[in-house]
Amino acid sequence: MTELVFKKTYSPLSSSEIIAKEKSNMDEQRFAHCVRVSSTAQKLAELNGYDQDKAALAGFVHDYAKQVPVSEYREVIKTQGFDPDLLNWNRAIWHGIVGTYFIKRDLQITDPEILTAVDRHTTGDVQMTTLDKIVFMADFIEPGRDFPGVEEARKITFANLDQGVAFQLAHSLEFLVEKRSKIYPRTFAAYNVWSVEEN
Ligand code: GDP
Ligand code: FE
Ligand code: FE
Repeated sequence: MTELVFKKTYSPLSSSEIIAKEKSNMDEQRFAHCVRVSSTAQKLAELNGYDQDKAALAGFVHDYAKQVPVSEYREVIKTQGFDPDLLNWNRAIWHGIVGTYFIKRDLQITDPEILTAVDRHTTGDVQMTTLDKIVFMADFIEPGRDFPGVEEARKITFANLDQGVAFQLAHSLEFLVEKRSKIYPRTFAAYNVWSVEEN
């Protein structure tokens, strides 16, 4: 495996400090997922003319707060100015939107593009930057993902990033509806912008 190094960390912390903090904040499987999302994001950046090192870092930190205890999330939502409606959701939704708070606090990453990409990585959004799309798609198609349709998702995404976003939003919505899960409004809004084919 090539050694994991971030040339620029967008933080006073060094690359190895960021990596050590991330490792201590999650189990090994989640860490391995973050490393795979990082390299997939780097590949998508190369294909789409985006800063590869920045994409690799954003991909790496995207799930930094995935395993933060629920009680800690609830406290942060109540005290750090987050929309109180978030209290009606769960970690699946929190770890992106509220995860940015922990990334700022612990990893001291302040770059708004990276933080927005983390914020949007679970639900997508009506507006998405190139980095938002790269992290959103890298998370979905990283080599450890195995679900019906993942090969098609990879093919589409490597050919056209926007079409990948359209595919993922439709696919995820179908999956959530199938399970009768509550849909976060931003997921719906994103689907309406990216996935609808007017006919
Ligand atoms: P992961 O963190 O690498 O596991 O991937 P994601 O951050 O993309 O997704 C986390 C979870 O959130 C997945 O189980 C998704 O199905 C779920 N999820 C995404 N959008 C929604 C939504 O609108 N509502 C609900 N209830 N869950 C969602
Ligand atoms: Fe996630
Ligand atoms: Fe992830």
